Formats: sequence, structure tokens, C-alpha cells
Amino acid sequence: MSKVKEYSAMTKDKLMLYTFIALLVLVGVSYLSWGITPIIISAIAVLVAIGIDFLIAKVTSDSEVNTMSAAVFGLIVALSYSLGLPSMYAEEVSALSATDAYFFVIFITAIGMGLFKKIPNRKYVNPAAAAKLLVFLPLINTILLPKDHLITGMLGVPSLAGPIGYAVYGNNGLSSFAGYLLTSFGNPAVATPLVTDTNVYNMMLLQKFHGWIGGASSVAVIIVGIALFVICRRYIKWRITAAYLGTVTLLAFAFAFMYADPDPILRVVFHLFIGSSIFLAFFMATDPASTPLTHIGQLIFGFGLGALTLLIQTYMGFFGGSILALVLMNLTSPFLDKVGKMSPTAEKKEPKLPKAKQFEKVKVTQCIRCGACMRACCHKLSPILIKEAFDKTDIETLSKLQADLCDGCGHCNFVCPARIDVRGSVLRAKALLRQE
Ligand code: SF4
Ligand code: SF4
Repeated sequence: MSKVKEYSAMTKDKLMLYTFIALLVLVGVSYLSWGITPIIISAIAVLVAIGIDFLIAKVTSDSEVNTMSAAVFGLIVALSYSLGLPSMYAEEVSALSATDAYFFVIFITAIGMGLFKKIPNRKYVNPAAAAKLLVFLPLINTILLPKDHLITGMLGVPSLAGPIGYAVYGNNGLSSFAGYLLTSFGNPAVATPLVTDTNVYNMMLLQKFHGWIGGASSVAVIIVGIALFVICRRYIKWRITAAYLGTVTLLAFAFAFMYADPDPILRVVFHLFIGSSIFLAFFMATDPASTPLTHIGQLIFGFGLGALTLLIQTYMGFFGGSILALVLMNLTSPFLDKVGKMSPTAEKKEPKLPKAKQFEKVKVTQCIRCGACMRACCHKLSPILIKEAFDKTDIETLSKLQADLCDGCGHCNFVCPARIDVRGSVLRAKALLRQE
């Protein structure tokens, strides 16, 4: 009989299961805006993702079947898909509505799984965001950019650079930018919506009728997202979300001041809740695999994401600016991993560890880059970075990371949700350094 082992209660499968349940709740919420269509889209995306995951694992030797992770990916694709036909887009665009939408979801899921999630050794970009941008790139003028806007900037690119108050502009036959938003994302059953601040804020916060499925209700995303953060706090990079939301809010106020907005709150609400920026902030920007490991790195990532989102949405008129900003910021993660690492110390400091749980069988999976092992090390080492350097026999990095300070306490193994023998790799790295 196998020996019972002690670990923290959280496993990668549990993390995926909790995330899946949270996303399912949001699919349920989207039913209130769109009826059955988002449920069909979600089912298609999940089935395609699971199928491709299985297929790739069968034909390649270094890939494992990870059904729960594939199912979560499928739901992220579905929830980051735009549905409905906002009046800002050209009417002939059918990718945004059923049944054509089903085919686009299949493409995005397949490309995301094959090209960005399963094939590379390390995920450099968020697979759902990168796949969506890639599939829609040829249709950039009709799907990603609104067909017109309040101010037409350089080269005909629409721009938000200017006041976006309630009664400043009269373009598009609308009384104001607020009216523009209400007509674009509001209830299609209401032919001429009353443009009041209450109506606009209710729509942006409580229920949208066009746009990303995951953004149907910003309040639902916030509640479900915070619940997930609390349950999985040690393993989810919530600092990115906090830094992103803070940066967007502060910069939107600064822009409102710069452009003398009559209603600064409207600009803040616009940037926070347009499309599904809020869904991205809670469920995509925190993807552990494509974001930095250190706390400082995560904060810088969140600041950068917020600033880029605001600039793209303001000067490119790209309402899904957060998705492009996310892919760009993902590319900085390998560099941000090096920022804010704790200084290794010979002195031993006992970290606060989660409660222990006994396991008879242990399932080892790929590292999810949650960074938990870095915070559990009693000598402030970076166990996962040491493991990566050891796997490449990178002696110079191993000595910089001071792998020789490891005393084999095993805290890194204890907290690892992927149940990787990080301690074993660090101890082997220490032995290697001694031979040098
Ligand atoms: S086993 Fe080594 S690397 Fe892991 S937590 Fe303990 S001292 Fe740190
Ligand atoms: S090795 Fe470290 S970063 Fe990777 S999954 Fe385990 S605890 Fe997380």
C-alpha cells in the first residue's frame, strides 16, 4: 500500500474545478441577456477544447490529458466572445450573432488550444485572448473597431480623446456619448432608451445586452470573481486585478480632467465595464501561466495592463482594448519574473503555511506557475525558477538564485498544487553547484 502523504489541501484539479463552477455561474447570468445562445456557445467551446486536449495528448508524447483545464479554457473562450449586434458595428457582421457565431467559437477554441495552450512548452500569451485576436484580425475594421465614433481621429481611426459627457456631442443621431452607449449595449426591446445617468450606469453595471458574454453583468463578475479569489487566495494572482482596476480608475479620472469632461464618472465607468474588461480583469488577466511569478511583477503587470487598456481604448477607439493590452503585457512576464524576487537568506524563517491534508494517491501535473512555492520557502529562495534553471543545467543562474541555501525543508512541495517535486530539483541543483 502506498504511504499516505501530507500536502496543502489545494490541488490543480480543485483550482480548475472551482474556476469552472465560477465561470458556469456567469454563463447562467448571460442567459438573462441572450437566452439559450451563450449556453450553446459555451457547450460547443468546452467540447471542442476537451476533444483537442485529448487528441493532442494522444498524438504527442510530452502532453497529458487535462480535461478540467481544457473545460475551463473552453468557458473562457465562450465568455470572452462577443454576442449580439451592437449598433456601433457594421450591420453585415454576422460573426457576432448565432448561428455563425458557433463556427467562430470553434475556430477560436481550436486555435487557442493548438497554437497557444498545448503546443508551446510555456504559455507566453493568454491563449483565449491571443486566439480571439488572431481569428478576428482579418475582420478588424468590422468586428474589433466600431464603425464610427464621436470624434474621428487621424487616418479615420475613431477616438475617445475628448470629453464624453452626457450632453456634449450630438453625432450619430444620439444626444450624447451616454446615449450612444445605451443604444449600443442596452436592451434592444427598448427602442428609444431614456438617457439618464441611472439608466446608463444600470446597464453598464447590472446588465448589458450586446458584447462579451462574460460581461453581461459586471456586478455578477465582481461577486463571482471575489468569491473565487477568497477560496483560492494563495494560488490566484489577485494583485493583478487590483492593480489593473486601480490604474484604470485613476487614469480615467486623469483623462477626464485633461479633457475637461462634464461627467468624469462616465469615463471611469466606460473604461472599467465596456465589453468585458471586468471579466478580463478577474478571469483572464490572472491566468497563472502567462503572468509574472513575483508580487511586485504582478503589480507592475496590472499597472501596465490598465495603462495600455486606457490608451488603446482612448486613442485607437478599440473597445476591446483590454484584450490587446493583455496579450502585449503577457510578453513582458518572463522579464517581470525577475523583478521583486525576495533576497535569499541563510537565516531560516518559518512561513505561514496552509492547513495540511493527507493524500494516499498523488497526481503530478505540469507547473501552473502560481508562485506558491516562492512564498513558502523558509530561505526566501525561488524554487520554481531554480527548478527551471536546473532543468536547463544553467549553472550561472543556479548560483545567482543561491540554490545552495536550500535545507530540504519541503515547504515548496507541501504547497505545490501540481504536486511537483520542487524540493528534489532544488536539492539536486545544490549538489550540482557543489560539484562545480
Ligand atoms: S526545500 Fe529548499 S527550496 Fe523548498 S522550501 Fe525548503 S528551503 Fe526552500
Ligand atoms: S512548482 Fe511552484 S509555481 Fe509551479 S505549480 Fe508548484 S507551487 Fe506553483
